[in-house]
Amino acid sequence: MSRVKVRFAPSPTGLLHAGNARTALLNWLFARKAGGQFLLRIDDTDAARSTKAFEDAIYRDLSWLGLTWDATDRQANRLIKYSTAFYRLQASGHIYPAYETEAELDRQRSLLAARKLPPIYNRASLDPANKQKWEAEGRAPHWRFKLSHSKVKWTDLVRGPVEIDTATMSDPVLVREDGAFLYTLPSVADDADMDITHVVRGEDHVTNTAAQIEIFHALGATVPTFAHFPLLVGAGGEALSKRLGSLSLDSMRDDGMEPLAVASYLAKIGTSDPVEPRQSLGELAGEFDFAKIGRAPAHFVPEELEVLNAKTLHAMPFGAVASKIPPLNGISAEAFWDAVRPNITRLSDTAGMARLVTGPVTPVIEDAALAAAAAALLPPEPWDETTWPLWTKAVAAQTGAKGRGLFHPLRLALTGLEHGPELKKLLPLIGRGRVLARLKGETA
Ligand code: GLU
Repeated sequence: MSRVKVRFAPSPTGLLHAGNARTALLNWLFARKAGGQFLLRIDDTDAARSTKAFEDAIYRDLSWLGLTWDATDRQANRLIKYSTAFYRLQASGHIYPAYETEAELDRQRSLLAARKLPPIYNRASLDPANKQKWEAEGRAPHWRFKLSHSKVKWTDLVRGPVEIDTATMSDPVLVREDGAFLYTLPSVADDADMDITHVVRGEDHVTNTAAQIEIFHALGATVPTFAHFPLLVGAGGEALSKRLGSLSLDSMRDDGMEPLAVASYLAKIGTSDPVEPRQSLGELAGEFDFAKIGRAPAHFVPEELEVLNAKTLHAMPFGAVASKIPPLNGISAEAFWDAVRPNITRLSDTAGMARLVTGPVTPVIEDAALAAAAAALLPPEPWDETTWPLWTKAVAAQTGAKGRGLFHPLRLALTGLEHGPELKKLLPLIGRGRVLARLKGETA
């Protein structure tokens, strides 16, 4: 087989959301595992809705996720190719002009619906009498591809053998009345021209694929292998729309999700692998297999992502976060990360945690006698992780306090908080001077 070459083909008409980010990711992981190429193709034939700002956001969001691409192109640059393909289809009799207005087509569809029939276009424009009449009215045509009305078959890498009778479909419109290309033909022309070996996309495209395979054949092009994975749905099974802002990559980033957690989540939901933290995109790529993708919709549940985000951070080595640790006035950032990472759900939580060690912390003195005894028993520095157990044992021996009665007042005095990172790790970071002051009730 030729070297794997896939593409992610977003339309720059909105922000990338969880669903299309997953399409990008699955293509990327497959290409990476196969040692193949991943192309980014901006599907901007819809000039009215495509914007440069959305295109830039696509680059930004994919980069944030950690994806890289071998080449990028946009369909607006390639219109000449689509015209060539169009004229070839016209010359070989595969397309025909159609004249119905949107309103007429709508009406036909309602009539069919009223008779409980599928909304299949009736090919009235192929009737020479209609054609003559509509042309005489001065109507400009749009152009449809004439489906073969036979069974199109392919072996889908996710769905297995698929068979679609194109008699159950409307002839797809390739070119609008104003001359603009719709999605179908440019996509096939590009996939053929760019030697795309695998088209990996959501199952909302399965029917398109049947028509597109006929177009590949009509153009004499090699048909790629297809993989259609089930779509993402929300927690309650609802469709994820491109405009659903809360599930955009942009909003996930603003919400403090780690790109690796988002990628791990998107790569694993709806598959037979467990949704667990991963160390790198390379690890995810190594595990990628179409056979693991299930047939049921994958549920995207923000709370699950949040849990995975926390677990991803808990497993994250210092090197991966070193540049993002807040200033610590000379305290070891590595020791700080080691102390706080089990207690954070977002990296931004480290800001509050940094204050616990650098101050100022306003202590809460719950048991003044205990705090005074503890202050008197503080050993001299240097301190390490053994300091806390030795010190608290000495405090327990002298005061008789134990369990919660010992630890809770000490935690409140040292951090001002009910809960937080392990004190045996925090204590050496806070340091003797601040510990002493806080035990005396001073803000330090
Ligand atoms: N621009 C199309 C979309 O976003 C691409 C579909 C495809 O992968 O062919 O749905």
